Parts: sequence; C-alpha cells; structure tokens
Amino acid sequence: MSILIKGGRIIDPSQGIDQKGNVLIENGKIKSFPKTTKKFESDKKVKVIDAKGKVISPGFVDIHVHLREPGFEHKENISTGCKSAAAGGFTTIVCMPNTNPVNDNASVTEYIFLKARTEGIVNVFPIGAITKGQKGESLAQIGEMYEAGCVGVSDDGMPVMNSKVLRHAMEYVQAFDIPVISHAEDVNLSGAGVMNEGEVSTQLGLAGIPCASEDIIVSRDITVAELTGARLHICHVSTAGSVRLIRAAKKRGVKVTAEATPHHFILTDNAVKQYDTNAKMNPPLRSETDRLAVIEGLKDDTLDAIATDHAPHSEDEKKVEFDLAPFGIVGLETALPLSLKLVEDGELSLERVISKLTNVPSDILNLGKGTLKEGSAADVVIFDPEKEIIVDKNQFHSKAKNSPFDGWKLKGSIEHTIVNGKVIYSS
Ligand SMILES: [Zn+2]
Repeated sequence: MSILIKGGRIIDPSQGIDQKGNVLIENGKIKSFPKTTKKFESDKKVKVIDAKGKVISPGFVDIHVHLREPGFEHKENISTGCKSAAAGGFTTIVCMPNTNPVNDNASVTEYIFLKARTEGIVNVFPIGAITKGQKGESLAQIGEMYEAGCVGVSDDGMPVMNSKVLRHAMEYVQAFDIPVISHAEDVNLSGAGVMNEGEVSTQLGLAGIPCASEDIIVSRDITVAELTGARLHICHVSTAGSVRLIRAAKKRGVKVTAEATPHHFILTDNAVKQYDTNAKMNPPLRSETDRLAVIEGLKDDTLDAIATDHAPHSEDEKKVEFDLAPFGIVGLETALPLSLKLVEDGELSLERVISKLTNVPSDILNLGKGTLKEGSAADVVIFDPEKEIIVDKNQFHSKAKNSPFDGWKLKGSIEHTIVNGKVIYSS
C-alpha cells in the first residue's frame, strides 16, 4: 500500500524544508515529494490523506522514556508505552534501563528488542545501564549491550556518584561512540527532599531538593567529560545553574548535549501548592527564574532537545501523601501541545520546536531517524498546530494517568502517526 499525504505544510528541519507540498510513501519508505497528485489520487492502491491546514513532519523522537518493562508492568509495558508514543506523534522512543531486572546486560537488551518487535508499534531503542544493577559500583556489560543495540548508557533515576567509576565509563564508551547520559543529582544533598527547595517548600513544610544538587553533578560530569574526551548528554535540565554550566562547557568545546522536558519549561513549583502528587518529579519543578533560564537554554541551543521523561506510575501509587508518592509523570501524549506553547509565546519558531523533537535528538544518539529524506523509513506525523484540545487523562493510551496537565486546554492535535509507511494512529 502506498500513501499520499496531500497538501500540507511540510516541515523537515533535517533538510531545511518548510514548504507546502505532498509526500508520497511507498514500500514503507519516503518515495518523493510529488508536485502534482492527480495520478496517485485515481490509483486505488494509494491511500490519500488530506493534510490541508496541517503540518507534515518527521515522526517525533523521544530519547527519554521509561517503558517499565520488564518488572513494573502494572505501571506501563512496551506495548502500552508504544501506543502512548504513537498517540503523541512519536515514532521513535528510547527507553531507560531502570527496569527489573535492570538493563545492564545483553540478555535484557535482547528481551526489550524482542518485545518491541512483536508488541511495539513504534521504533524502540534501549539505553543500557552504566553500572551493574545501577548501583554505581562496577561497570555494566557495556560492550555487550552496545553489540545488542543499546544506543547509550545511563543510570537514569540515579547518578553515578563515584567519579572514578564515571571516569571509567566515559573512557570505555568512546570505543563505541555512544554518550554517557547523566541524571545529574547529588543524592546526598537531595537527601529526603521531595520538591524544589525554596519559598514554596518552606510554606508547605516539605523537604526541599536544592538546585545545587543538580548543578554540582552537572559541573562534575562536564569536568569528567573534559578529562576523558567522552560524549556526555545531560537529562532533564531544570536549573538556571545547569544551563549556565552547559553553555560555558559548549563554548569551550566540551562534547556535551542536553535536553529539557515540557514540564520544566511550562510549570514551576507553584504547581505543588495543592499537594498534587502529579506535580512531583525528579528533578523537581523549579522557580520561575529557572523555568525562564531553561527556555533561554532552548532558544540558544544550550539545551539541544526536548524529551519527555515519560515516567508512568499507577494511580494507587500516586494516591498517597506527597512525601510518599513516587517521582515522575507521563509525558508522551502532551509533549507536542506543551511544546507548541513555546511557539505561541514567541520563544521558538515552529521549525525549531520540531527540530528539537526530531533530527536533533536522533543525532544525539545516532539513531538515523527524524528525517523525511527520500529513501528513509516513512516515519511521519501529521498534526494540526491550531486545533484546540482538552487534555483528558482517561483518554491516554498509556496505562498511567499521572499528568499534572489533565483538563488543560491546549493547541496542537496529532492527526496521524505513520511508522515504516503504516498508519499506526489516527485521532
Ligand atoms: Zn532522571
């Protein structure tokens, strides 16, 4: 079956394309951008999708997702996580290794690939652990996991607190040209903190996590990357201090990239005031100063990519006192409309937002995705940037409903998601 996507605004930052046109998909690949469509429209073997008034872009790429399988399937599994991705316009997702068992050896990596191939509807690439069991002590089987298809290593959820272990990891990964992906947090300084340390935490009487907890490890990781020459990617940047440190490191030529999540550029710790456990994540929502610094970072490309840190939890787990609730929120199905707020507010052009959701994250992990180049896999999203939606957690395709954006009125509707030339989601 061929697909003709007709008359949309094609935005493909990987090729510098932003123009009205048509996209022809054949045999699962991007075939061409035909100028006229008549002969395809009369061909019964061609499915025609009308994209008038809509944007046609490469399918989104999320390099920070928790699929929870194996081990925590009551929160999410590979099948439901992929469906959630598709509903959010993502055609490629990268999953973190903090499963049970931890993805710290090739057999877990192979298990994830097998499940993704048989049950997943989008492309899934795993990230392997840096250390065995993510315990921060001895290196995981990084070479084997790389051979099995891991695209990076991370102990996400935890930092590697031992700088010597981190140094060894950074020396080792260079043989494979994959980055070390850092969850930057000084766990001792975070202590029992459950939200950002500041005025709001004082008012609420909740234990705080200071910005310094993140800044210290960002600084340390940059220093070790400089020492070793390794590629470093910093996850979910939430503080003005981190943005400053990464900006300065990039200026010196350190091989560092970074991502920001929609919740960190949309919300502040004010969202915690109702003790809503869906405003509890790690790193926590910060102050307005930090939020604005994250947006500045996205604007000057200090922060390269947008990633969701999709972190599903069951409703029971979140329906407890704030102190006791697990950290994390789902993000795949709200990422586009939240990111489009940056366009609406005049912070970033639509083309740049799409770039931070497609070719840029793909390039960070060498995935070869996020493009509409002729001959590449037909991973495409068609969305209406102006259509109003109301976020409804009960409509999520994810197993989990833990979103602070439930009930929000936003602009940006995913109309169709296509993977390898197959329509896998239509609204
Ligand atoms: Zn993390």
